[in-house]
Amino acid sequence: MTTISVVNQKGGVGKTTTTASIGAALVEKGQRVLLVDLDPQGGLTFSLGIDPEDLEITVGEVLLGTRKAEEAIVVTDDGIHLLPSNITVTQAEEGLVSRTGREQRLRVALDKVAGDYDFILLDCPPTLGVLTVGALSASDKVLIPLQAETLAHRGVGQLLETVGDVQQFINSDLTVWGVLPTMFDGRTNHARAVVDAISSTYELPIIEPAIPKSIRFAEAPAIGRSILGTQAKHKGAEAYRAVAAQLLDGSPS
Ligand code: ATP
Ligand code: MG
Repeated sequence: MTTISVVNQKGGVGKTTTTASIGAALVEKGQRVLLVDLDPQGGLTFSLGIDPEDLEITVGEVLLGTRKAEEAIVVTDDGIHLLPSNITVTQAEEGLVSRTGREQRLRVALDKVAGDYDFILLDCPPTLGVLTVGALSASDKVLIPLQAETLAHRGVGQLLETVGDVQQFINSDLTVWGVLPTMFDGRTNHARAVVDAISSTYELPIIEPAIPKSIRFAEAPAIGRSILGTQAKHKGAEAYRAVAAQLLDGSPS
C-alpha cells in the first residue's frame, strides 16, 4: 500500500485534477484506490460527481475522531472510493488546532482502512496548515504539481521546508517523488526552462511526462468524471496514465 500527498500551497496548479486523474488511471489498472479530499472547498468531492452539500459525514468528523473513516467513505460511479470533504471541514480544522495528536490523526484513521487499498491519494488544500501537515505525516511520497510559468518557484522553498520538518519530526519515511509539470505548453521553450530551473535550484526530480495544457480538463469535473472517463484517448489522459504507471513499476521513487 502506498500513500501519496498531492501538495502545493499555490492555488489552482492542478492538485485536484492530478489526484482525480491518477486515481482513475490506477483504477483502470485494477488497483484498489482511495482518494481523500482534504480541501474544505470540496473540489475533489464535486469533481467525482458528489455534491459536497449533501454529505452527512466528511473527513472532518474522521479527523475529530467522532466518526470512523469507513463510515465516511463513499464509492463513486467510476469505482473510486472517496473520503469526502465540504465546508464544515473548516470548523474541524479550527477545532484540531488545540487537540492532541492533530498531525497524526489522519494517519491513524487511514491505517484502519489501509488493508482495503493499494493506493491512497491525498488532495491537499492550497495551504501549509494542519490539514496538509497531517497529509504529509500519513504519506510515503509527496507529489508536487507545478504550473510551469514565471514565479511558479515562489513558495517551493517553503513547501520543501514543511516537508523537511515532517521528515525530521513526524514521518521519517516520507520521500519527495518529484515535481509534476501541469498545464504544460510544449510549444514554448519557456515552460521547459521554468521546470528545469526549479528542478535544479531545489534538487527536485521532474516527473515525466508533463501534463499538457488543455481545455478538456476543465470540462470533465462538471459532469463528475475525470478526463480519463470523458476523453479516454486524449493526450492529457494518456499523460496521467503514464505517470500512474510509474507507481506500479515502483520507479522512479
Ligand atoms: P486549488 O488550489 O484551488 O485546490 P488545484 O491546485 O487543485 O486548485 P485544480 O482545481 O486541479 O487545481 O485546477 C485548477 C483549474 O485548472 C481547474 O479549472 C482545472 O480544470 C484546470 N486544469 C487542471 N489541469 C489542467 C490542464 N492540464 N490544462 C488546462 N486546465 C487544467
Ligand atoms: Mg484543489
